[in-house]
Amino acid sequence: MRYLLTNLPLNLGEEKLDLARPLSHALGGKPSDYSGVVLERRSLDARHKGAIRFLVALGFDTSRDLGKVELLAGLKLEVVPPPSPYFVDPVPRRPRVVIVGSGPAGTFCALRLLDYGIEPIMLERGPAMSERVQSINALWQKGILNPEANSQFGEGGAGTFSDGKLTTRIGHPATRYVLETFVRYGANPRILYLSKPHVGTDVIRKCSVLIRKDAEARGVTYRWKAKLADICFENGAVRAAVLPDGEQIPCDAIVLAPGHSARDTFEMLHRHGVAMRQKPFAMGVRVEHPQDFIDKNQYGPSKGHPSLPPADYKLVCNLGLNRAAYSFCMCPGGEVIQCSSEEGGVVVNGMSNEKRDSGFANSGLVAKVNTSDFGSDHLLGGMYFQRRWEQQAFKAAGGTYGAPATSVWDFLRLKGSGQLPRTSFRPFAVPADLRTCLPDFVQEQLRGALPVFDKKIHGFASREAILLAIESRTSSPIQLLRNEDGQSVSHAGLYPCGEGAGFAGGITSAAVDGIRVAEWIAQKAGAPVFQVFEKQVRASELANEY
Ligand SMILES: Cc1cc2nc3c(=O)[nH]c(=O)nc-3n(C[C@H](O)[C@H](O)[C@H](O)COP(=O)(O)OP(=O)(O)OC[C@H]3O[C@@H](n4cnc5c(N)ncnc54)[C@H](O)[C@@H]3O)c2cc1C
Repeated sequence: MRYLLTNLPLNLGEEKLDLARPLSHALGGKPSDYSGVVLERRSLDARHKGAIRFLVALGFDTSRDLGKVELLAGLKLEVVPPPSPYFVDPVPRRPRVVIVGSGPAGTFCALRLLDYGIEPIMLERGPAMSERVQSINALWQKGILNPEANSQFGEGGAGTFSDGKLTTRIGHPATRYVLETFVRYGANPRILYLSKPHVGTDVIRKCSVLIRKDAEARGVTYRWKAKLADICFENGAVRAAVLPDGEQIPCDAIVLAPGHSARDTFEMLHRHGVAMRQKPFAMGVRVEHPQDFIDKNQYGPSKGHPSLPPADYKLVCNLGLNRAAYSFCMCPGGEVIQCSSEEGGVVVNGMSNEKRDSGFANSGLVAKVNTSDFGSDHLLGGMYFQRRWEQQAFKAAGGTYGAPATSVWDFLRLKGSGQLPRTSFRPFAVPADLRTCLPDFVQEQLRGALPVFDKKIHGFASREAILLAIESRTSSPIQLLRNEDGQSVSHAGLYPCGEGAGFAGGITSAAVDGIRVAEWIAQKAGAPVFQVFEKQVRASELANEY
């Protein structure tokens, strides 16, 4: 019988030894009584700095009777049911499906549709990978923005130039499908068991291209630089996708997975009266420290142990009255990057390579923006609010695609531009007074939270820490409304999907949402309800997942 033993502590280094040994210590018997031992999950327990250890979950087979084993406190033993296969039969009817956006949501929707024998057309406004990389390098090296090819738009979507953390809290069975797919296309298999799986932008770029090539060979038609400019509806139902030159692509379903930065697309949907609502998000800055400093604080005397990765952190400060500031998308060994997609606006974010070896540690330091802060009842009010502050950041950077920046020390003392700490940011940081490019209520929350964070990580608010503005694209400021069958509540055949539509908060949850949408389309085309992917995902599980 196959079992899973969870919460088993391992000392640093022990994870590299024969894992049947700790099993026999915990459950009795000899190591040879346990076969097929697989590390199913591994997390770092750093609560006691002098005694940092791993907590693991091990899957194994044994013929021993474990019914009477007395477990040590904290351990949990359960029988594992056989894994559910992902295999499905082709559907009897093949609807014509157009997917908008080649990010994780669109990509995994396409892969799952292929499983059902449905061959979609993928519209992507940006270019394929190699051309996209050139445009992004022009921005990062020379400060030249291409509004259609940047870290938001182009092959692979925002996920490609991301930090590549594949963490999610949704606990959805399709998460495994996503992780296994990344492994099949080149990601390190350890992502299948790490509690905080990370692949890095370098790996995810390679995976994206391999996935696309395979999807193409299996029947997906990719159209690059092909923006969905309009939709042709008939009696409230989708009839065709329309490109900027007027070309119409007749279809039965459009999967809308354009990410959170497709502002012109949201305006087009709003003109058609597609049902949507305002959604809160978060806004703030990127904070950056030397990685060595974070490692010292988080690992204490264990710092430098070969089993330990560059340290991360997660900081939260509740300020009452529905206000809170928190760290977000922490990138150990990463870099702060220019993430603008609109002319005249500056946006920053963070990413890292698989090795996480830049020597810097950054995270978004953001405050909650409630819909009442938008200052407008317009359904796209949150989007215009983001744009306004991104334009302020551009001005504060002297009308360039540099990033306005200051030290945490100066920010807390309400001083203007002083000397800037070292930063990984490219093309350049511009000394600036961040009061000019952050809403007052965001500044106040950050000023309230930073001293609290400094108590948790001593030195967090020092002269060596830099703040760069503005981190405004944390999640979508709107949500498109959809029915139980995945279709828009206002327009039949329209399937809102992924982060931009308000149904995901990161790469993995966006990918899972793509799979769910594919399941809905397949079910409408005659597929039986597929139990494995039935679980509902609560909206509250989706905000800022990584
Ligand atoms: C720098 C950075 C770091 C990040 N790090 C992480 C991380 O470590 N972990 C994590 O989980 N998440 C991370 N994220 C967030 C993650 O990338 C997104 O949550 C995820 O990519 C959303 O997937 P999506 O498919 O819904 O949308 P996107 O990935 O945004 O893809 C949308 C695609 O649609 C295309 N598009 C838009 N409009 C149109 C149109 N009208 N016609 C045709 N195509 C269109 C775009 O060009 C884009 O390719 C990061 C994001 C950024 C920017």
